[in-house]
Amino acid sequence: MDDLQYGTRDKRGNWAPNAPLEIAPFWLGKFNKMGAFLVDYLWPWNAFHMATALLYWVFVIPDAQTLATLSWSWPLYLLLVNMAGIFAMYGAIELFYYVRRRQGTRFKYNAKFPAETPSDVFWFKSQNLDNFLRSFLIGIPIWTAVEVLMLWCYGNGIHAFGWVDWQDNWLWLVALTLLVPAIHEIHFFCIHRLIHTPFLYKHIHSVHHNSINPSPWSSLSMHWIEHTLYFGEIVWHLLIPSNPIVMMFNSHAVGYGAINGHIGFDKLEITDETALDSHAYAHYLHHKYFEVNYGADGLVPLDKWLGYWHDGTKEADERMKERFRKKKERMKARKTGATAAE
Ligand SMILES: [Zn+2]
Ligand SMILES: [Zn+2]
Repeated sequence: MDDLQYGTRDKRGNWAPNAPLEIAPFWLGKFNKMGAFLVDYLWPWNAFHMATALLYWVFVIPDAQTLATLSWSWPLYLLLVNMAGIFAMYGAIELFYYVRRRQGTRFKYNAKFPAETPSDVFWFKSQNLDNFLRSFLIGIPIWTAVEVLMLWCYGNGIHAFGWVDWQDNWLWLVALTLLVPAIHEIHFFCIHRLIHTPFLYKHIHSVHHNSINPSPWSSLSMHWIEHTLYFGEIVWHLLIPSNPIVMMFNSHAVGYGAINGHIGFDKLEITDETALDSHAYAHYLHHKYFEVNYGADGLVPLDKWLGYWHDGTKEADERMKERFRKKKERMKARKTGATAAE
């Protein structure tokens, strides 16, 4: 595909899309765009997470009676399946687009590949190895532990309002399933903005931000406290009337779905004419500029409402620089004020 029909490439070879990022159309009154938005909302990413959640429910997760007792067997099996699943999904994108580089740098925001830039900030000086090990040794075990806790609660009937079943509550559960991406954006925005406060950033979130040029393995590469806050989103299903299948869908949307912001390509070419939209640009800009786009795609546009939204345009760039300049001034004034008071 010709990526220059969809965007521009600068002197360094970095590609950027022509179309600015847009928050969900219903916030802007663009109801004529709702059809395309809804298709995009479901297909392919959320449909994929729904499918894997169902597959787990049928083939991996034991019956409620088994879930009621904590043993080593079913939690370890769940851990192995999660590791295999992440290895297969993230690994496939890594293999085809980063190792074999089947589409070169077409649609790639940053022309460089992480493997080309060794850095001391990473374990073994390798972004790939560091990110991979942090994901598999820390991230996936914490994710699985949260799932085990939730399934054990289900097995024992523990829930703020009681777990609900599909027969009597299918309409609510369908609505809740559709609301999962909104729950995700609100939860992620809040914990993410929190760990961007200076102390927490320095000690916790900087680990994730070491990857300025993220790739698939960066997705779950975090400090263990960030993993806990991030996967803590799943615990909302103990407070909202929910069902374990919807809980597992939410879990897969955060576990498997973490890759979306870190794909590094705007589109993944499947054939010569078809491509998948990665939905990676908003979070790519976050990794590039740090203090913009704390949430996701703007389904619940907290970034826009609070002045952090960067849609990729020059105007957004100017607004961001102005905001950074003012922040610097404020910090300077505070410093001189403090020195004067001494
Ligand atoms: Zn990230
Ligand atoms: Zn961040």
